[in-house]
Amino acid sequence: MSSSWCGRDFQKREFAKHSPTICYDKPNAAVVSKEEYDDKRYKALCGDVIQTLIVPKREARTWSMQQGDLCRVTVHEGSQVGDMNFWNLDNTNERFYSGKTRQLHAAHLRVYDRLWSCLPYLRPMATFVFDTLATYGIDEDGGALHDVIGTRCDDYTYKLITGKERVGSCHSSLVKAVVEERGMCEQDVHDVWNIFMCTGITRDTDQYFCKPSPARKGDFIEFIADMNLLVALSACPQGDVSIPVGHEVPDEVCHPLKVEVFRQKL
Ligand SMILES: [Zn+2]
Repeated sequence: MSSSWCGRDFQKREFAKHSPTICYDKPNAAVVSKEEYDDKRYKALCGDVIQTLIVPKREARTWSMQQGDLCRVTVHEGSQVGDMNFWNLDNTNERFYSGKTRQLHAAHLRVYDRLWSCLPYLRPMATFVFDTLATYGIDEDGGALHDVIGTRCDDYTYKLITGKERVGSCHSSLVKAVVEERGMCEQDVHDVWNIFMCTGITRDTDQYFCKPSPARKGDFIEFIADMNLLVALSACPQGDVSIPVGHEVPDEVCHPLKVEVFRQKL
């Protein structure tokens, strides 16, 4: 073997420096007309509330939406994060693709960003149209809200970390909801949109971090369906995420989430 493969030579190596290049940088296909979506939002909110449901704390629920419907998810009792899944209502093989959504927009979604479906479809499923927490922005640690980085909490990883068995995670709640309400299966649950959750990547160690959610009673987000959708939402058993993973989460940091679907009058 050549001596250039020894460890000391690796350490001497110098790399050329380059400025970062944004890989996708919101291509035109991912940019919506703000006026068009503000108008869609106004018309939907002037229409009828066709569905209201409460996702109980530490549980998940599903609902459907027609293209053009607006969904508002409200922190209506106390701070709480939620994990969302999306499928094409008419073909559940087409589902939310958090990784590509992250590349097309950003690691944390902001108003007028879109939620994209998996390959080979790659179509906009929904468009984020309102956020009472929009002014949080990106904090001094690089933390921001509504990420498409994290995957969802699950009992398999909990056991990996703690060695303990448990049933009580967004994954298990989403599975229960899609099995019982829609006749689907565990493999239908996929990586989520983490609403109201404050997360980021540490600069020094490049690790995923979270902070307690800044969402308070009355905060809400809204999105408009760009296709007929099946939606699932878990009120995360980590509650407001003020307790580190692996520690007991007291019931008082967990709250339900309220879902309303608005439809434009014809
Ligand atoms: Zn969770």
